[in-house]
Amino acid sequence: MLINLSDVTSRDYKTVSLEAEIEADAFVSRLGKFPIVEKTPLKLVIANKGNKELEISASADLTVVIPCSRCLEDVRRQFSLRIARTVDMKATDEDRARNLDESSYISGCTLDSERLVFDELIVQWPAKVLCREDCRGICSKCGANLNQGECGCNRESLDPRMAAFRTVFRNFGTQEQ
Ligand SMILES: [Zn+2]
Ligand SMILES: [Zn+2]
Repeated sequence: MLINLSDVTSRDYKTVSLEAEIEADAFVSRLGKFPIVEKTPLKLVIANKGNKELEISASADLTVVIPCSRCLEDVRRQFSLRIARTVDMKATDEDRARNLDESSYISGCTLDSERLVFDELIVQWPAKVLCREDCRGICSKCGANLNQGECGCNRESLDPRMAAFRTVFRNFGTQEQ
């Protein structure tokens, strides 16, 4: 949703509160597309602190489905977005670009609430998601989900990383002797 900030920007010490529906039904990044299955509206409080500086607070709760890093089963991950930003409305878009300002969610006198949510999700995005701490992953040979039981494959001899590791270890052992 695009929110026009000209009214609050032009009136010193004015504060506005509003809610913006989160329109996206998936979070799309270079990592892939992840469905957003639950979401609250984004609650925004925008306060003019004088001198055309806006203090923006925003909060929303989202549930996003992300595959487990090991077994690829869907995991429902909750995100609690609590955003606090200060924006200098005297800066032009060119100033912001030059200063590598993150506030690309501000363009001219407009705030893009979807962009604000997206930027915060990127910041909070987990490096790894596990369906459970001791997820056993999938068999590298047959692809079976090992959380559902042992498939019977002999994986030890098939994992090339393990084989390489053993070679290094063997060479190292030879030098030692
Ligand atoms: Zn898993
Ligand atoms: Zn297997």
